[in-house]
Amino acid sequence: MRWEDYRQSDNVFNRRDEGGSAMGGGRGILAFLLLRVIFNRFGIGGVVVVVGGFFLLSALGINPLSSSPSPSPATAPRGEITSRYDAEIGAVLAATEDVWTEQFRENGLGAYPAPRLNLFSGGVSTQGCGFANAAVGPFYCPGGQQIYIDTSFFDQLASRFDAPGDFARAYVIAHEVGHHIQTVTGISDQVRQQQARAGSEAERNLYSVRMELMADCLAGVWARQTAGLQGFSLEEGDIQEGLRAANAIGDDALQRQSGGRVVPDSFTHGTSEQRQRWLSTGYRTGDMNACDTFSAQSL
Ligand SMILES: [Zn+2]
Repeated sequence: MRWEDYRQSDNVFNRRDEGGSAMGGGRGILAFLLLRVIFNRFGIGGVVVVVGGFFLLSALGINPLSSSPSPSPATAPRGEITSRYDAEIGAVLAATEDVWTEQFRENGLGAYPAPRLNLFSGGVSTQGCGFANAAVGPFYCPGGQQIYIDTSFFDQLASRFDAPGDFARAYVIAHEVGHHIQTVTGISDQVRQQQARAGSEAERNLYSVRMELMADCLAGVWARQTAGLQGFSLEEGDIQEGLRAANAIGDDALQRQSGGRVVPDSFTHGTSEQRQRWLSTGYRTGDMNACDTFSAQSL
């Protein structure tokens, strides 16, 4: 995949510092308790000396509350923790914005509302899907129309799932963008209503499977349509990387209706063979209308 010369999306938000925020909060409480002890013992004069000293040290660039000399996630400023994947993610998300803006126009769907993509580390509180930890893998939360990715998943993709490569990662992002498209086009709502009327768990799962396979197909459509972009292109072997990832992973977690918590639900994603087939269908046709998994006779 060639993406280095492509633009960066404005919709990537680095929220990795929030995963360890409990520690930062703990420091604040400790400082407050310490000041209370000093006040009880030395009165307001003692507090003034300590707070004054704190500001003097801070002005000199020294953090008196830092317990270790090396920067830790808890003390790093907002958005400072980055990964080697960040620039690639920024370019891939930008390429989804440009492709889907054009596809929405061509298909008479109006303006494409781009989703936000949040990078997190360890855990993150979502808009509409409760608190999620990294164990759920990348996921899309329809409530706030946002994608959430802990990039350590990309390391797992290469090591644990044996699906390395930049396009394997791009496919994961494009699949989540596929869920966004299902949401903004109203497909997700329709399916949820039908799911609520379904008579059995198995029937409900079949709806989920069709949704997941459609997202795979839309990822394939995106991959095909990147051919129309300047400065972004696929290379030999890229689609194989994506197919390998589709084969390997039980991808993202779906939001449980009850409780609003994000939980892994890998058995509702379709078989490896189905996932590969629908990714291929999207790529072969380059047409989002070919992704109607609900009309398909067989998956
Ligand atoms: Zn999915």
